[in-house]
Amino acid sequence: MPHPCLSCGACCAHYRVSFHWSEAEPALGGTVPAALTVPLRSHERAMRGTAGGDKPRCVALDADIGRYSRCTIHPVRPQACRDVPASLEFGLPSRQCDNARIAHGLPPLTPADWIWREAAANDRDGNPRDDDAPNDGGARPPPALPPPIAA
Ligand code: SF4
Ligand code: SF4
Repeated sequence: MPHPCLSCGACCAHYRVSFHWSEAEPALGGTVPAALTVPLRSHERAMRGTAGGDKPRCVALDADIGRYSRCTIHPVRPQACRDVPASLEFGLPSRQCDNARIAHGLPPLTPADWIWREAAANDRDGNPRDDDAPNDGGARPPPALPPPIAA
C-alpha cells in the first residue's frame, strides 16, 4: 500500500499556503520558486493558486484529488507544507489533514491506512516472504519509504 498522501493531495487544494517572503528569495537561502508564488501581506508570499478565491489549488500540485497526487516542487516546497502532518502518521490526528480530506469527500485517515508502514519497518531485510527469521536468506536492505506530499 503506498503512502496515503500519494493518492490524496486534498490539503494542497484546500488551504492558503503562505510563508515568509525570504523562503522564495535565493539571496537569503530561499528555495521556493518565486515564479510559483504571489505577494501576500507585507512579509509574506503565498503559493500561486492558494491566495484568494473559493477553490484554492496550489499551482505546484499535480493531482487528481483522491486518486493520485504529487508535489512538483517537493524538495523545495515551503515550510508550511512540511508542517502539515498526515493524520495518524506518527500517532496523532491532524485536524488540517482531516478537514481537507473531508472537504474533498474523502474519509479521514485511520490507523488502518498506516499498517503497511509498520509492516515495512518490521521487515528488516526487505524480503516480503519471510518473518525475518535469522536464517531466511534475505540480504537486501529495507525498501525506502516514499516521502509524504505535504507532511
Ligand atoms: S496530509 Fe492529509 S490531506 Fe494532505 S495529502 Fe496527505 S493525506 Fe491528504
Ligand atoms: S506541498 Fe507542494 S503542491 Fe502542496 S501546497 Fe505545498 S508546494 Fe503546493
